[in-house]
Amino acid sequence: MNSNRRKARNATTNRSRVKQNPQVTLILGDGVGPEVIEAALGVIGATGVEIEWDRQSAGGNAVLRYGTPVPDALMESLARTRVALKGPLETQVGVGYRSINVHLRKAFDLYASLRPTVSFAGVHTPFRDVNLTVVRENTEDLYSGIEHEVAPGVVESVKVITARASSRIARFAFDYARKLKRKSLTAIHKANIMKLSDGLFLKCARAVAKHYPEIKYSEQIVDAACMRLVTDPQSFDVLLLENLYGDIVSDLCAGLVGGLGLVPGANYGDKGAIFEAVHGTAPDIAGKNVANPIASILSGAMLLDYLDHQRQGDRIRSAVGAALRSGKTLTRDLGGRATTTEMTDTIVRALARF
Ligand code: NAD
Repeated sequence: MNSNRRKARNATTNRSRVKQNPQVTLILGDGVGPEVIEAALGVIGATGVEIEWDRQSAGGNAVLRYGTPVPDALMESLARTRVALKGPLETQVGVGYRSINVHLRKAFDLYASLRPTVSFAGVHTPFRDVNLTVVRENTEDLYSGIEHEVAPGVVESVKVITARASSRIARFAFDYARKLKRKSLTAIHKANIMKLSDGLFLKCARAVAKHYPEIKYSEQIVDAACMRLVTDPQSFDVLLLENLYGDIVSDLCAGLVGGLGLVPGANYGDKGAIFEAVHGTAPDIAGKNVANPIASILSGAMLLDYLDHQRQGDRIRSAVGAALRSGKTLTRDLGGRATTTEMTDTIVRALARF
């Protein structure tokens, strides 16, 4: 574990000495959020780990209820618990308030997004044995939110890359690779065009790589990397990306293993973490009890790892693997007909075997 994550975890552990059960902020989110997060709560509860959930609203549903997508109570809760399990939040395209996800990641400096993407037996895709992890810088790049109109019909979006943020995300990625004994790390960039910004990102990654000689470091231009990902995904191990490329490439990687319903995620900072699936609110299937809950359930497993309940996190991962392998209870996105509830129940039953 890298020292930042350890510090954050220790902070939680110290708090748990005072209060027996850890406090975690719970954000159900918009769209399919409440369905998949309730599923994750059911599975976490079935492990026997007791958590004091502090339920808070954010996003579109908070606007309806409180007139703001980021109520003060939410920010106060996150500042207190420093850890959250979160459903997806709606952000309108081209108009409306700025992304609350980006806001939360910046407000709590959750600079490292980690998205482990693995193939599951029982899920039919053109690829087998994919096992890669996307490490995405979470706080800057074109997500800096600096946009302005220079003249009518001409706008600028500013891409911000700093040595500080580039070096710390590279250290996070290499620490992760070292801890999990991963063999190689590929920095993905477009420094042939953005020589200054992506050039700086690479310079920082190269300097950090020197301290991790056991991990094979390489670089690839983002377009070529996308082609290689969809022809030879097994050749990748840990991927290190800036914010925008990381966002796009993680969805591409999700497609390699069977879709967005399967890939969990975490946003880590020095002082806390938010756990959430890679997918969005899936408005096309919201409220129908058909969303795949696995991405959120696996995000819950990552939360348990963080709370020092790694054994219970492993049990959840094993139960998910077993449920998928049996292939009897698959949601629509995986070619089955099961509901969210049925798939969750199958995973809870499988948990008893591990
Ligand atoms: P999306 O991820 O919501 O959906 C893309 C496709 O994947 C849809 O066809 C959807 O049905 C499917 N899908 C997603 N999750 C699924 C699941 N659990 N089970 C089965 N199928 C699933 O992406 P989008 O439609 O581009 O975005 C919708 C909204 O979500 C937007 O407002 C966007 O800003 C927001 N969003 C939020 C987050 C977040 O909160 N972290 C992430 C991405 C998108």
